[in-house]
Amino acid sequence: MSALHLLVTGCKGRMGQAVIAAAAAQGVTVSATMDVGDPLLPALSQSTSVIDFSSYHFTDELLTACLEQKKSLVIGTTGHTTEQLARIREASLSLPIVFASNYSVGVNTLFWLTRKAAELLGPDFDLEVLEMHHRMKKDAPSGTARTLVEILADVRGLEYDQDCRHGRFGDVGARTPKEIGVHAIRGGDVVGDHTVIFANVGERVELTHKASSRDTFAGGAVRAARWLEGKPAGLYDMQDVLGLK
Ligand code: NAD
Repeated sequence: MSALHLLVTGCKGRMGQAVIAAAAAQGVTVSATMDVGDPLLPALSQSTSVIDFSSYHFTDELLTACLEQKKSLVIGTTGHTTEQLARIREASLSLPIVFASNYSVGVNTLFWLTRKAAELLGPDFDLEVLEMHHRMKKDAPSGTARTLVEILADVRGLEYDQDCRHGRFGDVGARTPKEIGVHAIRGGDVVGDHTVIFANVGERVELTHKASSRDTFAGGAVRAARWLEGKPAGLYDMQDVLGLK
């Protein structure tokens, strides 16, 4: 029997609720939940592992508490600053952490296909990423879009911070061959759509993933928490969990 006892943070949110349901479906015990205004430490002490889908404003407090109490951590929250990303990396020297911008099997396949397509198509193809999410989403671009741009940048020898172009407005001039465009669309109740466009003169390849249920992310996050049991300290992603590396 699994010794896994989960704390679900951001438990009242869309993803928190989906994670609680996914844990029940996979026979995993949720021993504690918390949301804004609830004390973290007592909830954490009842658990062996945390699944967090809350807000990046909460990440620093959560990392400190997990380091103090030596709890493993599955981070689903997105929108972190560069400094916070460095703190997550630093915490993973002492704790096992799965950190993925997207926990669905389909999107992780899209990550793999994106790398392959970028390698095969070569530098003549212009690279653009489109994402669409529901009207309540707070951060932009989505963490998944950021991962897609990072994969493209890695293949091309570019840098996310320097070469990513967030939307275009006004007299911006012609597209440069180095830039990778990323565009965030918001509206309705869209769970998450991502398209990677490879455009050359005379032809275009588009890779698209559309999520129609949060259950796919939630189920993946619970699977990640189960996979993480007994793993040494380190920073893992969903490709590790799925054995795609
Ligand atoms: P949501 O707004 O529905 O829920 C967030 C919850 O977190 C709310 O209940 C809120 O009260 C709570 N929260 C905020 N600050 C908190 C704090 N300081 N302490 C405790 N709880 C706090 O949002 P959502 O749609 O559930 O998304 C949550 C996060 O997960 C976002 O960052 C989103 O981008 C990300 N997300 C990631 C994936 C993935 O696969 N990695 C998938 C979907 C969403």
